Amino acid sequence: MRSVDEHRQVVAGLIAARRPVSLPVAQTLGLVLADDVVAPLSLPGFDNSAMDGYAVLVEDVAAATDDTPVRLPVAEDIPAGRTDIPTISSGVAHRIMTGAPLPWGATGVVPVEATDGAVDTVTIRAGVRPGQHIRRAGEDVTAGTTVLRAGQVVTPAVLGLAAALGLADLMVVPRQRVLVLSTGTELVAPGTPLQPGQIYESNAVMLAAAVRDAGGEVVASPMTGDDVDTFRETLRRHTAAGHVDLVITTGGVSAGAYEVVKDALSGTVEFVKVAMQPGMPQGAGRVDDTPIITLPGNPVSALVSFEVFIRPALRAAMGLPDPDRPRRTAVLSEDLTSPRGKRQFRRGVLDGDAVTSYGPPASHHLRWLASANCLLELDEGTGEVAAGERVQVWDLR
Ligand code: AMP
Ligand code: MG
Repeated sequence: MRSVDEHRQVVAGLIAARRPVSLPVAQTLGLVLADDVVAPLSLPGFDNSAMDGYAVLVEDVAAATDDTPVRLPVAEDIPAGRTDIPTISSGVAHRIMTGAPLPWGATGVVPVEATDGAVDTVTIRAGVRPGQHIRRAGEDVTAGTTVLRAGQVVTPAVLGLAAALGLADLMVVPRQRVLVLSTGTELVAPGTPLQPGQIYESNAVMLAAAVRDAGGEVVASPMTGDDVDTFRETLRRHTAAGHVDLVITTGGVSAGAYEVVKDALSGTVEFVKVAMQPGMPQGAGRVDDTPIITLPGNPVSALVSFEVFIRPALRAAMGLPDPDRPRRTAVLSEDLTSPRGKRQFRRGVLDGDAVTSYGPPASHHLRWLASANCLLELDEGTGEVAAGERVQVWDLR
């Protein structure tokens, strides 16, 4: 049997980073920058007012107090967006709004709160210091400065900065494009009435969501029956165009008959038993140069396998700084047993420093997984763990 760590390495070795691409800024959220970003312009781009108020020469209002207000004619009105920048002369005020360009020659802005707000002759009841309430050109960003680094994840604030700098596109590591293909003649799409013996398809929809949640892009998520030719044909149809970076299949890889994935791909894909529970039957390889990971069909096995093998590799290939789920230890609140020689992943509920196992270990109990918030990882050497011991958990929150 192959160890969990060995299979993690095999999967990681198959999934390669794509070449960086230039994408419109709005499409880059959550991706990793492939290049440093050098500011093409300064921010602010021009001296402007930090307050709604009156631009003045500070010496003209130096004597202004509540008791000795200064009255100045208002010579200009400067809303934000005014593009012709006037020059102020001594003895007048310019009414100015936040973000509006400071008139040439102005040395301070009196906030509107210290005035009567008039539009013809303004009464000013406080002085200002030189430069007060003025935002200077370049005080945030100087043109030519490196403001973002390759490897940084694009957040809303990164997008905001890029837009403020007038950048239309960013060079990023693109999303991995994933085909999710589920197999099983018993599968029926939700919305269709079930015949006896049929079940609703759930792996494809679940794994497609997990791919997106991990930062990947889902090319398609079809299902096929257990017919080898149909399976091969569906696979080829989606991979032939060359827009698929990874194929994930579910089902058809265990020890029974009608194991469609195994039957269709043995020889090209390596099918192995991994020493874990759930998720023992696994496969990994390439079909026509496209990496393919074949997961078992039981829903819990499929999602746990995705978490253990695929999610970290996908995220690493996209350059994301935290490919693995956060891991920590927590105090177990009950006695548990685990099969020696296998690594067991149980569904759990983490509450503060305490963790409770949630539902039976069997691999078809999807309900418990749906309400779990962590995986308990009981290593290969563990047979029993007692309440009160610390165990390793993967935080899924
Ligand atoms: P298999 O690995 O194909 O033998 O499937 C193992 C178990 O998982 C069987 O009970 C299947 O019916 C179930 N299963 C397989 N694929 C799916 C799927 N896409 N959605 C829901 N259940 C599935
Ligand atoms: Mg099957």
